[in-house]
Amino acid sequence: MAAPATPGTADGAERLVIENAYIATVDAAGTEYAHGHVVVAGGRIESVGAGSAPEGLTGVTRRVDATGHLVTPGLVNTHHHFYQWITRGLATDHNLFNWLVALYPTWARIDEPMTYAAARGSLAMMARGGVTTAMDHHYVFPRGSGDLSGAIIRAAAETGVRFTLARGSMDRGEKDGGLPPDFAVESLEGALAATEETIDRHHDASFDAMTQIAVAPCSPFSVSTELMREGAELARRKGVRLHTHGSETVEEEQFCKELFGMGPTDYFASTGWLGEDVWMAHCVHMNDSDIDAFARTGTGVAHCPSSNARLAAGIARVPDLLAAGVPVGLGVDGTASNESGELHTELRNALLINRLGPHREAALTARQALRLGTHGGARVLGRGDQTGSLEPGKLADLVLWRMDTLAHASIADPVTALVLGAPAPVTLSLVGGRTVVEDNHLTTVDEDAVARSTREAAQRLAQIAAGG
Ligand SMILES: [Zn+2]
Repeated sequence: MAAPATPGTADGAERLVIENAYIATVDAAGTEYAHGHVVVAGGRIESVGAGSAPEGLTGVTRRVDATGHLVTPGLVNTHHHFYQWITRGLATDHNLFNWLVALYPTWARIDEPMTYAAARGSLAMMARGGVTTAMDHHYVFPRGSGDLSGAIIRAAAETGVRFTLARGSMDRGEKDGGLPPDFAVESLEGALAATEETIDRHHDASFDAMTQIAVAPCSPFSVSTELMREGAELARRKGVRLHTHGSETVEEEQFCKELFGMGPTDYFASTGWLGEDVWMAHCVHMNDSDIDAFARTGTGVAHCPSSNARLAAGIARVPDLLAAGVPVGLGVDGTASNESGELHTELRNALLINRLGPHREAALTARQALRLGTHGGARVLGRGDQTGSLEPGKLADLVLWRMDTLAHASIADPVTALVLGAPAPVTLSLVGGRTVVEDNHLTTVDEDAVARSTREAAQRLAQIAAGG
């Protein structure tokens, strides 16, 4: 999409030029340039390559000397629950089911202002750490709580990141053998109608879309089989993606076997939930035939190593998933099970935790970890042709990481420094060519004001929950 004509330029485009950087493109060949350039025009990458930018460029509005920096595609987060930003640090010594039972009564009290504040906190934390594409799996819609989806989408637009709202739902409350309290669940018809309305109102299928919607019933243990089936039909009728939690814990596997007479992957297959348009969070407890089913159908995985460790869920078989050809991205998961809420930790933990598994030092390389957090994530969100790698024609979603300070200057290789070192300062982060972070600060929202509003929302929610 060309920018409007600018006087004095040959083709009307305004250009941003980045030079003197180490560039990891994360293209299919893993091309890197020790000393390279990127040219951005009209919100897209115009050129990327070795040495200085081509001579004779017109319309250059900014030239960045990126000496001492690593340039990568922007990070892509593929699984999150923004509302949990205001319930961090609770139930810290629980496994998944006990943690859910402890927190559902509090979560069931959220309202629109709290959800908006929590979304701003979650988004700000990710964006300042180099995330350019975010997602929120939101599935708690207490009766009378307002337009939660609208509030979340507004927060994402204000923060300036590309965004997928996975419109979640729960219709299996305690009285039907589920875990959530009955007043926190929707009816089957209500959940489907609200999801369809959210798609109609907000989904943008265009190449440079800033907002997309997915259909996302919460999990097999909080959702009826009808909602899984009809949710999948709705998504395919509307041409949007499908997302849910799957195979997270041993307890979930037992639950599925008792209730449905089969494990989670077979249950997903029986309800229409395997396919190229589906991505699933966690996928920790997968046997070889489960992995084969994902590979055969092109079903994607959002790997959330920190959350899996926090809830003692186990180690996902990422090396085996990748070897089988399963698309894999990274997710922070909700911040009630990953208080950090920034994606750098997931790059690092994906590598470290998988090396504790059977593949040991051969489990993942630093470059594979970076790929999971960029192009791998874009692929599972259905946007691998648009973002996630630095290639001409793709969206200008990119990050300049500062590598010449105390934390990183003596690490031999910049990609290793990014993945295994401390979180790197972000000198510049662009989403569609627009600046979101400059000199390690958000340019789109006031970080201190966001912090204050999230603290107030957390205190108000705690008071309401304590009062019953
Ligand atoms: Zn989750």
